[in-house]
Amino acid sequence: MTEATTRRPDSGNLDLRGDALRVLDHNELFGLQEYVEQHAAKREMEAAPSDEEVGQTLAWSQGWEYRERNFAREALVINPLKACQPLGAVLAALGFAGTLPYVHGSQGCVAYFRSHLSRHFKEPVPAVSSSMTEDAAVFGGQANLIEGIENARALYKPEMIAISTTCMAEVIGDDVKMFLGSAEEAGALPVGFPAPYANTPSFVGSHLTGYDSMLFSILSLLTQDASPEPTVGPRPRINVLPGFDPYVGNVREIRRLLGQLGVE
Ligand code: SF4
Repeated sequence: MTEATTRRPDSGNLDLRGDALRVLDHNELFGLQEYVEQHAAKREMEAAPSDEEVGQTLAWSQGWEYRERNFAREALVINPLKACQPLGAVLAALGFAGTLPYVHGSQGCVAYFRSHLSRHFKEPVPAVSSSMTEDAAVFGGQANLIEGIENARALYKPEMIAISTTCMAEVIGDDVKMFLGSAEEAGALPVGFPAPYANTPSFVGSHLTGYDSMLFSILSLLTQDASPEPTVGPRPRINVLPGFDPYVGNVREIRRLLGQLGVE
């Protein structure tokens, strides 16, 4: 069968060929004819510079004049783009199989994380929140956290729940560790269920520190019973921790480079 006869016009990023439903990632998706045409139309509507102008600017940016202008700068800001900590914590949690990112705090923050990551990766991004509102802001979010964990486990059946916090929970001083103990007592969280947590208020740090804090918390939990002596199994593996790097092309490149070193 040809693609023309099997792809519905409204099929979006779903490849409906064959029996399996396959979600295309953005590398393949944006190579499709409809997206190529959309991109061309967008460039026309925005009166984008011609290829020639782009080439001229590129050549100028590689020349001496551009270099001297950069060296003449007196003020420099490194990493000016700063998003909030739980966004990084959610991304770190998504890297572990069967893990549900759970954000203790207000719902709107989590809607922002989900939409931000979904728009970037062009894939659905699971993340839940304890939906704290005015009453929780006054009386504390313990009841929200316990009920939220119970619901999340019943609905999504995760193997691990990775909990981060928003500004709201941190401003009122919610004690997540204590709340998790209460959740165990209430039967909402089985004793010993993996539930790493990281405090991620966004009035300090950024998405980078949020990612690191959650990663540290998860790895601390997963390795708490590990022997301090390193052991090498029959199929040695290397874990690559790229940090907050949302560009899947970089991961592919790391894999390619490791492949050249003979690492599977
Ligand atoms: S309130 Fe805080 S956690 Fe929520 S989106 Fe804003 S900065 Fe991020």
